[in-house]
Amino acid sequence: MRQDQLLVGTILDGMARWVLAVTNSTAEEARKRHGLSPVATAALGRLMTGALIMASSLKGEENITLRLLGDGPLKGVIAVGDARGRVRGYVQEPWADLPLKGPGKLDVGGAVGRGDLVVSRSLHSGEVYTGTVPLVSGEIAEDIVHYLVTSEQIPSALLLGVRVETDCHVAGAAGFLLQVMPGAEENDIQIMENIIAGVKGGISELAARSETSEELLESLLGQQPYRILERREAGFSCICSKERLSGTLATLGKKEIAELIADGKAEAVCHFCNERYLFSVEELEQILEQV
Ligand code: ZN
Repeated sequence: MRQDQLLVGTILDGMARWVLAVTNSTAEEARKRHGLSPVATAALGRLMTGALIMASSLKGEENITLRLLGDGPLKGVIAVGDARGRVRGYVQEPWADLPLKGPGKLDVGGAVGRGDLVVSRSLHSGEVYTGTVPLVSGEIAEDIVHYLVTSEQIPSALLLGVRVETDCHVAGAAGFLLQVMPGAEENDIQIMENIIAGVKGGISELAARSETSEELLESLLGQQPYRILERREAGFSCICSKERLSGTLATLGKKEIAELIADGKAEAVCHFCNERYLFSVEELEQILEQV
């Protein structure tokens, strides 16, 4: 697919809300920027897709941070999605890898391990709401659903998938959330369950095969009529800048900055996108003056 997108809509005359995120390029860019192993690509790709989907209900400058803090080899996986369809993220141990769980099956749950999912919503008002749930499987979609159901009491189903080819590149990545709205009847819920159960071969396979977001949506929904309420572009995008990183350098303190000046230069790297910023002696001296 040409462009990553986020689509929001309804089925069953508004009795169900769905969100579709197409994230092929987003996951591939994260892999390239961070030099991720296949299992790290799948984990971060899934988490970034989940963050984009959860950010679909936010507004303006609001954002949501998902932290997977597990005891597996990846150690931690962090993604931040915002209301504009931008997402960024990183893996604490980007090269960690595990043997496949089965033919073509990356062991994301094993790589994440046991621990917690921490969800923080940063709202327009400046308030930050944080909720924590224990990880169910570390496979990410189940963990996010567990959060939605326990913390927000919204009956939900979520599919997240990233297909990583043997040459390591991302062939397809997407996520699909289906939520029961108030007033839905037993029959509506049965139809929703059938939609989720009917996704054969996984959503990443469908994403790899589809030419457009609509084609992917239709292969998920089958014959079910749908309405699209919103459509926005999505993609990997970081908010870092040299100014922000100089603020981070300033927090090191006078002694450390003086040492960097003695070294003749400094390099600061953004965790979220791996962008490198070089600081000259003159720039470091300016930072030192402000400390
Ligand atoms: Zn950055």
